Amino acid sequence: MQTEESDTAREQTKAEQDVDQVRQRAVRDQQRLDSGAVSSPKDLENLQREIVSLAKRQGDLEDIVLEVMERRESAQERAAELTERVSSVEAKTADATSRRDAAATELDADIATATKERSVVAASVPADLLKLYEKLRTQQGGVGAARLYQRRCEGCRLELNITEVNEVKAASPDTVLRCENCHRILIRTADSGI
Ligand SMILES: [Zn+2]
Repeated sequence: MQTEESDTAREQTKAEQDVDQVRQRAVRDQQRLDSGAVSSPKDLENLQREIVSLAKRQGDLEDIVLEVMERRESAQERAAELTERVSSVEAKTADATSRRDAAATELDADIATATKERSVVAASVPADLLKLYEKLRTQQGGVGAARLYQRRCEGCRLELNITEVNEVKAASPDTVLRCENCHRILIRTADSGI
């Protein structure tokens, strides 16, 4: 739109120059006519005819100037409108970017805390159990251990059958239990329904 505006500005200058040229020529013709230097009736008639024709030509060219000015004004308005929209979108982008950066800073802090906490917990887990957990975690989409909740493995959502329930019941508290279905480590709690 800014390009269109500068294009129409150039077009307007050109059209105004055209008008000016015709006007100057008409003025010169009129001066010749008024000076009395032209005396032949045929020349006088030609001169008068040209003055009339120049007046018409000037009118036509002035219409063109007006038409170009209208186009230029609407291009100016549209360019202003679009510039405003660009600013508003840029402001939104800046706002979203700063919110994203703030969230990323917060997440980084959370990650640091969680990593520290995890390393403390991991240090207290026997090496072979930790290795099993890591292997399962990789295989099972990031979840290596699942809570056993009301006889249901919360990793795969399947309910344990009666044989499995009895095995869980019989197992000592420090036995590492596994889900028969998804193989994840099952974590027993008071809500396990056992
Ligand atoms: Zn499971």
